[in-house]
Amino acid sequence: MIDMRDLRLDDARALLEHDPTCNLPEPEESPTVYVQSVVDNLCELSLKDPLTGLSNRRHFRNVLSREIDAVARSGDSALLLMLDIDNFKKVNDTYGHLAGDRVLQAIANCLAACVRPMDTVARYGGEEFAAILPDCPPSFGQIVAERIRETVGNLSIFVSPLVSIQVTVSIGGAYAPEWVRSTTALWTDRADIQLYRAKSEGRNRVYIEQQREIAVSAEEKSMLFGHLSLGDPAWIETASSDVSGATTGNAINKVNSQ
Ligand code: GH3
Ligand code: MG
Ligand code: MG
Repeated sequence: MIDMRDLRLDDARALLEHDPTCNLPEPEESPTVYVQSVVDNLCELSLKDPLTGLSNRRHFRNVLSREIDAVARSGDSALLLMLDIDNFKKVNDTYGHLAGDRVLQAIANCLAACVRPMDTVARYGGEEFAAILPDCPPSFGQIVAERIRETVGNLSIFVSPLVSIQVTVSIGGAYAPEWVRSTTALWTDRADIQLYRAKSEGRNRVYIEQQREIAVSAEEKSMLFGHLSLGDPAWIETASSDVSGATTGNAINKVNSQ
């Protein structure tokens, strides 16, 4: 049995007390419940971006990786969106860094409100966000992303008591290839290429990579991928795309990793 007096939990407790969402029980009530609660809350904290409360990049990568597995097993469509605030440096330069932080928080709240509970929104980098939308049919992707872009663009954000501003976002998106095991890096690269297009073609716009078709019948899929549920290695996506979004070479190379 662990004796509570042997544990150094003061730093952890101090850290958690700064997080308004954290509610620790009193250690005297039940040492086990208390220690478990400290561990759970630290885990929770390690997955969040402190400024916006959204998932951080670490958590996002885990969700992305899980989604790749889910798509390879089910063939469902999953969309990844990368969003970047347009000309954000100007906001900082004009209104100050604190105002910039407020804009980041307002956009984070707006993005979280725009998506379904099953979707994951993360702060991916400084003024860059990302969203994973599982089970999003290809015909909806553009509509969903456009709705997000418009909602953010219509937001009035108070950067001081009397001044409100509006900002826009550029969005790039890519679907996980159905029935094929991709990698988090390849998937994000493809969405990034589309984001780059949106930026270079004027900002405040959406580009989604056209989904590639794989001509495999349902029966073939079942024969080819039935073993996936046993955890065997799957095919690996090795596609590469140019900046125009066109896929180069063989879109999906079949690589049997065994
Ligand atoms: P573009 O439309 O090409 O994306 O232009 P941009 O100005 O948004 O992009 P750029 O990369 O030139 O500038 C990004 C700025 O984001 C610079 C950086 O200071 C700011 N930034 C990054 N993280 C934070 C943050 O946490 N808070 C604030 N206030 N600013 C941040
Ligand atoms: Mg950026
Ligand atoms: Mg930017």
